[in-house]
Amino acid sequence: MKVNYCSLGCKVNLYETEAVLNEFIDNDFKLVSFNEKADVTIINTCTVTNTADQKTRQMIHKALRNKPKVLAIMGCFVALDYKEIVDQDVTQVIIGTSNRSKLYDYVIKALENKTSFIDIEDPLEIVDYEELKLSRFVDKTRGFVKIQDGCNNFCSYCRIPYARGRSRSRDKDNIIKEIQDLTNNGVYEIVLTGINTASYGEDLENYSFADLLEEIVLKVKGLGRLRISSIEVTEITDEVLKVIKKYPSHFCNHLHIPLQSGSDVVLKEMNRKYDTSYYFQKIQKIREHFPLINITTDLMVGFYNETKEEFEKVKEFIQKVEFGEIHVFPYSRRKGTLAYEAKKDLKGDLKKARVNEVLSINKELALKYQAKYLNQILEIVIEKNEKGICFGHASNYLKVAFKDLQGKVGSVAKVRLVELGYPLGKGEVIEV
Ligand code: SF4
Repeated sequence: MKVNYCSLGCKVNLYETEAVLNEFIDNDFKLVSFNEKADVTIINTCTVTNTADQKTRQMIHKALRNKPKVLAIMGCFVALDYKEIVDQDVTQVIIGTSNRSKLYDYVIKALENKTSFIDIEDPLEIVDYEELKLSRFVDKTRGFVKIQDGCNNFCSYCRIPYARGRSRSRDKDNIIKEIQDLTNNGVYEIVLTGINTASYGEDLENYSFADLLEEIVLKVKGLGRLRISSIEVTEITDEVLKVIKKYPSHFCNHLHIPLQSGSDVVLKEMNRKYDTSYYFQKIQKIREHFPLINITTDLMVGFYNETKEEFEKVKEFIQKVEFGEIHVFPYSRRKGTLAYEAKKDLKGDLKKARVNEVLSINKELALKYQAKYLNQILEIVIEKNEKGICFGHASNYLKVAFKDLQGKVGSVAKVRLVELGYPLGKGEVIEV
């Protein structure tokens, strides 16, 4: 039997897709590409923006054209809008953001009986973290390890807490075991991921995110370096900073701290839990400990109360913080959110123009940060070798390209940064 898949959206989705897929492969299913005809097609969906919804619908239509015996669809879009995708003409397995560990059994029953299964749990009722077994690691370069699910923040523009439910932490021993297995498999960089990664521990008694970080460092034998995929500014506690400072060789010199807006009135309307002065003070504190750290961020522009004056404040603030990189998105009005109920939106052209303005500031800032490392030697995990060049990320998240090193993907190279460039600087290999 053949299986294929499509995983949309974030790294957490990819982690879950791989875990589900492994069960099929362990049971002698042959993995084929998404364009090929397969007996079973799995789609893991995303609903973070209107474009993500659109992409989900497109992928479902594409899969249907290949007429799989069973079409299994799961994930955030399904958790909120599953009724839209129920199709009487095809055998389907439809689950939301829970019960993924049952997906394989549902599919086998659906294949045998030619009957569809729909198992949707209200995400806000989910209490426990669902453990998924990852028996093989597809990516040998950077190991993405899921440590928690859900989010308690309910930012006014975001649908994710309704799709994923509240924050719940994974068992620490399972996290440590998975990191140990990845490390034993030669994976040097471990990326701790989640929906709201550093909210880890909020549902546990006497065990915090900082405790987890320290326990990983102390228990994993042969550990390379750890990267925190993203951390909310309110979650950067003194304890977290203390652990990072205590074990500098095990933590990447990089923190991704979502800002979302550099205007206090917009932040308030977004229901973010800080203002710009809190954010800036925290950044100063981090830089007191780690002067050369790369601080990257997510920024949403064109929120409905972002006037011209407020957007000017946003631009001023991002320059004041001197981010090393900004991922900028236009506000997307999402049904079911508080912001949707405000019934206000800015014109698409205006949002696009603001995105472009931020993109040009981003390029300047990124190059300014990169310049601090010109002629310095960086430790790069080689992620890809394509069209005669290799590239990968350094501990500080600078992305550098250098000469072809066949067969070295996954290895660590010492590379001197010799030419600035965004998004890719150029390097000279010193040692592999
Ligand atoms: S922190 Fe805010 S933006 Fe991020 S998942 Fe939670 S609600 Fe959504």
